[in-house]
Amino acid sequence: MEHLKILPKTDALHEAQWWEALPSGKLHCYLCPRHCHIGEGQAGFCFIRVNEGGKLYSLGYAHPAAMQIDPIEKKPLNHFLPGTRVFSMGTAGCNMGCFFCQNWDISKSKADQVRSSYVPPEDVPLLAIRNGCPSLAFTYNEPTIWGEYVIDICRAAKEYGINTVMVSNGYITREAFHDIYDHIDAANIDLKAFTEGFYGRITLTHLQPVLDTLVWLKNETNVWFELTNLMIPTLNDDHDETRRLCDWVLKHLGPDVPLHFTAFHPDFKLQDKPKTPPETLHAARAIALEAGLHYVYEGNIYSDGAHTRCPSCGAMLIRRSWHDVQENRLRDGRCPRCALAIPGRWTNPQGKTPTRAYAKAREVTDAKYGDLNL
Ligand code: SF4
Repeated sequence: MEHLKILPKTDALHEAQWWEALPSGKLHCYLCPRHCHIGEGQAGFCFIRVNEGGKLYSLGYAHPAAMQIDPIEKKPLNHFLPGTRVFSMGTAGCNMGCFFCQNWDISKSKADQVRSSYVPPEDVPLLAIRNGCPSLAFTYNEPTIWGEYVIDICRAAKEYGINTVMVSNGYITREAFHDIYDHIDAANIDLKAFTEGFYGRITLTHLQPVLDTLVWLKNETNVWFELTNLMIPTLNDDHDETRRLCDWVLKHLGPDVPLHFTAFHPDFKLQDKPKTPPETLHAARAIALEAGLHYVYEGNIYSDGAHTRCPSCGAMLIRRSWHDVQENRLRDGRCPRCALAIPGRWTNPQGKTPTRAYAKAREVTDAKYGDLNL
C-alpha cells in the first residue's frame, strides 16, 4: 500500500458531526453503534475522533494515510463499471476490532502513528481525474469513522461527474446512515459472518447493526451494493452458517445482490489459522447458488468463480482473471444470448466528466501533488 511522504498539518482540526455533550462532561459520539462516551483529551474506540476542550473533532478529516489506484474489481465490485480504475484512499483507525484485519498497519494506528498528507476534499476528485479514474473509493480502513471527509469529498466529486464508493463494514447508526449514503453511488459491505458469536469474539462488535444497514441500503437508497464474506477456516466457514447467511440475503435483499466469498490469509492476531482452501469457497458458492442467489463470486484465488454468467441461460458475460477483466460480452447491460437484463451499473451513473475538469485537474494536482507516485 502506498503511504504518503508528507507529514500532516497539525493546525487542521475539523469539528466532527454526530455528537452531543453529556451531563457527565463526556461527549457521546453516535456515528457508529459503539456510542462511545469520550472524556476530555481522549479518543473514541476508533482512535480518530477526539474530545478537545469539550468539542468532538475528526482527526481523519483531510488526512489520508494511504492513496492508490486499484481496479474496481479489487473493492470488490463486479457489477459497477467493470474494468475501470478507482482512486482509493483510507485514513487511520477503525470502529471494529477484527483479529484478522488485513490492513491493520493503518486501521490499528492512531492518526499520529501513520504518515499522512494534507489533502482537502475538493482536491480528491481532481486526483481521480488526473489518474484516469471515473470513481473514487473510501477504503483500506473504515470510512464511516471519517464520514465528514467522505461527505465533503462526495460533494466535490459530483461537480466533476466522479462516482463515489464506500468499502465498509456496515457498522453505522441510523442517525448517520442517510447523511453519508445519500451521497454514495456504490458500496461493498462486509458481512463478516452470520453468527453473533463471531462478531462478538472476533470483531468486538455485533451482527444485527450490519444487517440493519444492508436492509436500509436495499430499501431506502439507490446505492449499488455488493457483499463480501471473508471465509476463515473453522471460524465462519460452517456450511450451515453459510446456508443461513444466503437464505437471509435472499429473503431481505433479493437474489440479485452479488455475494463475494473471499479467501483469508493469516494476518494480525489470527496467525494460527491456515489460508482458506479453494474447496471452501467452491462449496460456499455452490450453497449460495442452490439457495437461489444469482451472482456469487470467489475472490483472492484464481477460479472460474470470478466470472459473471447469465443466471437464466448460463452464457459467459464477463470473464475475469483475479481482478482483471479479460472479456465483457454484455450488450447494453443485457445477456447477448437471451437478452436478460443483468443488474448493475454498466454505464457511468454520473455521466461524462466535463472537459474543463481535465485542465483543472492537471493544474491543481501537478502543482500540489506532483511528487505522488500513484
Ligand atoms: S465512530 Fe469512533 S468514536 Fe464514534 S462511536 Fe464509533 S468508534 Fe466511537
